Amino acid sequence: MDYLPIFVDLKGRKVLVVGAGDVAARKVSLLLRAGARVSVVAPDMSDAVSALNADGKIDFVKAVYNNSQLTECALAIAATNNMAVNRQVSEDAQQYGVLVNVADAPELCTFILPSIVDRSPVMVAVSTGGASPTLGRLLRARLETMIPASYGRLAELTRRFRDPVKQRFKTMTQRRRFWENVIQGQVAELVYANKDQQAEQALQAAIDQADSRELSEGEVYLVGAGPGDPDLLTFRALRLMQQADVVLYDRLVSPKILDLVRREAEQIYVGKKRSFHAVRQEEINHQLIDLAKQGKRVLRLKGGDPFIFGRGGEEIAGLADEGIPFQVVPGVTAAAGCASYAGIPLTHRDYAQSVIFVTGQLKDGTVDLQWQTLAQPRQTVVVYMGLAGLDIICSKLIEQGVSPDMPAALVQQGTTPSQRVFTGTLSTLNALVAQHEVHAPTLLIIGEVVQLHERLNWFNPQE
Ligand code: SAH
Repeated sequence: MDYLPIFVDLKGRKVLVVGAGDVAARKVSLLLRAGARVSVVAPDMSDAVSALNADGKIDFVKAVYNNSQLTECALAIAATNNMAVNRQVSEDAQQYGVLVNVADAPELCTFILPSIVDRSPVMVAVSTGGASPTLGRLLRARLETMIPASYGRLAELTRRFRDPVKQRFKTMTQRRRFWENVIQGQVAELVYANKDQQAEQALQAAIDQADSRELSEGEVYLVGAGPGDPDLLTFRALRLMQQADVVLYDRLVSPKILDLVRREAEQIYVGKKRSFHAVRQEEINHQLIDLAKQGKRVLRLKGGDPFIFGRGGEEIAGLADEGIPFQVVPGVTAAAGCASYAGIPLTHRDYAQSVIFVTGQLKDGTVDLQWQTLAQPRQTVVVYMGLAGLDIICSKLIEQGVSPDMPAALVQQGTTPSQRVFTGTLSTLNALVAQHEVHAPTLLIIGEVVQLHERLNWFNPQE
């Protein structure tokens, strides 16, 4: 993080603005909106500043800058067209411990002004740390259209009811959930429809009628996080990630995805190593039940889809037995993600009319599959957890009569910036892979469709 975003209360506090041109005028207006006592120092002033002065809104000091003007300032802004003066203001301010901003000179700033979306009291600030003001502006424009003007009134309404809600609901969890219901429900809709009085009545009714017990009930969300690229999350996954109290996540869930989980949520890593999962799985099942019984909203975040080689079924069976509410959110499974990002259609009218997903790793650690079924023609075989058994899988299929020249691909860390795709045939792939340092997770795709990779490959993050 290059800059810490903070919101400063400037009401009644002195801010020094050095310079009185158009740039200075814009900064002065902003400071006045925040209630600051603005002192503008310059030998002359532009029309804009002069208008503010005539209205008595600023304290104009017709003079050249000197460091004594910095006394008792909360902030200082230098916006003259004389770089030497700007630099002097920056140096002096830093010496006095006053935060300073210099227009168009990030290296002289100790704070920068973000682009803002003002829905007071709701305020959204956007900064690119000076890296790309254009990007910042575009982002701000997008946020402007996303954030209804009525958010300000909604926030005002909730502010007035904070104390009554605090008295009515004893725990923080209950209060948070109560407010989430209000902000996502009928009360908010009424505010958006400009029916503020009805909104207020509805809010009062909600406070009177809410059931504290219901507000403290735990729940489990079993959520598929997809194969790695955060853009492949579903809207629902993201929404539940943002309201969880605690998250239990796997080795396969990328840090970028974890970043999207509600900041305050406790994070518990429950990743398992290969062939070690029997005991640990039991523990996870129990942990889910325990946490939900404590009234928590538990996010069980799994790579890919929770119901495809994800033991999702085992994890929620215990919840169902205990009568704990849960919901399951599908995710993009590795086969779909890797196939798309490797340009290998899993079915194709010319090559494959069916696709079969198998795991290369059985509960007892062996590879023992229905080889005959896998050897059927005009079918694509996708093997999850197939790297360790790659050699056996290829030879068994050849034994069953599949051509040694059948195309096969190994996709490493599909959909992520580290994605690599190795293509060969049943007889060459193993040796090819052995020559490279391959990192888990990897997915094996076998079938005629693999030859399409050469033409349809579009995602090359390493280039
Ligand atoms: N539930 C998951 C699969 C879990 S099993 C899903 O639906 O995708 C774990 C296996 O999934 C890994 O061993 C690997 O074979 C595969 N896998 C998961 N993510 C992958 C990725 N980004 N790239 C390649 N393979 C992946």
